[in-house]
Amino acid sequence: MQYSQLFGKTKRQDPKDEVSKNAKLLIRAGFVSKEVSGVYNFLPLGLRVLNKIANTVREEMNSVGGQEILLSALQNKVSWQKTGRWKSFDALFKVKSQYDQEYALGPTHEEVLVPIAREYVQSYRDLPISLYQIQTKFRDEPRAKSGLLRGREFLMKDLYSFHADEKDMLKYYEVMKGVYRKVFERLGLEAIETKAAGGTFSEFSHEYQVVCENGEDEIIYCPGGDYSENVEIATAKDGQPCELGHGPLKKVKTIEVGNIFPLKDKFSKAFGLTYKDKKGEDKFAQMGCYGIGISRLMGAIVEVYNDDKGIIWPKTVSPFNVHLVHIEDPGTEPWAKDTYEKLTKAGIEVLWDNREDVTAGEKFADCDLIGIPARLVVSGKTGKGKVELKMRSEKQTRVGSVDNVIKSLSV
Ligand code: ATP
Ligand code: MG
Repeated sequence: MQYSQLFGKTKRQDPKDEVSKNAKLLIRAGFVSKEVSGVYNFLPLGLRVLNKIANTVREEMNSVGGQEILLSALQNKVSWQKTGRWKSFDALFKVKSQYDQEYALGPTHEEVLVPIAREYVQSYRDLPISLYQIQTKFRDEPRAKSGLLRGREFLMKDLYSFHADEKDMLKYYEVMKGVYRKVFERLGLEAIETKAAGGTFSEFSHEYQVVCENGEDEIIYCPGGDYSENVEIATAKDGQPCELGHGPLKKVKTIEVGNIFPLKDKFSKAFGLTYKDKKGEDKFAQMGCYGIGISRLMGAIVEVYNDDKGIIWPKTVSPFNVHLVHIEDPGTEPWAKDTYEKLTKAGIEVLWDNREDVTAGEKFADCDLIGIPARLVVSGKTGKGKVELKMRSEKQTRVGSVDNVIKSLSV
């Protein structure tokens, strides 16, 4: 991709109406554009990152038998009345049609999916099932000042599993814990599995919390890794010694990037989702639900990976693998073009800053702001067939042949 043609360029100034680091950086670097408070548009760079996060999550959900679906955002009011959540779900957006109809604008999808499951699940042979989607959610959040961390419109992965009994549901719940750890690890994040309240129908749920001073959550955890609990429910105190001898427990601010929940038969009961067991008796299906905030993850990654110059993307989610900068010394134009073509042929995604009349200093500042992990420079100084390589997270540069650089980037 040639940067000269890319829609969404960098801006010099921070946006005036943003307080969060992730929104400031993502807007300045040309990834997103604000619609209204808590609602963002994704520009080409931003969509590339969002898709990489979504695809990583998708691969992992597929790996444990998840089948992808896409459910409606505009939802049947009657179903929401059936579960009582038309009244009790505080953040529910209600849409009034001009044709005397009211709809819920989906903040979650139990009310849509459970009636569908009821159509297709008849016998124990139809279970277990695991269905997920990556879809836009709407929540009328009272405060939306944290950029992508708290949207009124945001992208979520939500998976719902249906089982014959609680034992099978809890077995799958453990499988999902493993998958969640893998997802966050692939995205370059250390997410602490944290015990949290289960609501009215379960003793517990688990949240995946990323330590970050700008987070809205707070956990108390053992640095040795054997305990973590959301402060809202926890009885343990900051500084209290870990029972297994790992030293004092720590209280830290965090971002919740995922949440898993044993729903049991709460929604099966509300919608009459039963199946016939081996003896021919009717039983309620047992459910689990498993959410990941896809767009929140993008914000969380920026909150964790940045410095005073801009974003520092982990390799797996960066919009491009390489930021190629051409410094216009006479006669170097074909070298830059050759380098771009060689890299592209090797399967490396390149953002090529080929702008004319922009100084080297400005181009470097843009590289730092945009945050692609590897910067390559072609100039009169590097010479034909050679490039200068600098990693975004490091200070030193080195010059090498394009071929060698390709090799070093592919490992
Ligand atoms: P929170 O406690 O942050 O309000 P939640 O517990 O209500 O979130 P869930 O309903 O479990 O969230 O949603 C699953 C995931 O979706 C969350 O773990 C989070 O990553 C993401 N998410 C929830 N609300 C938002 C939001 N307003 N903006 C962006 N992502 C969100
Ligand atoms: Mg929560």
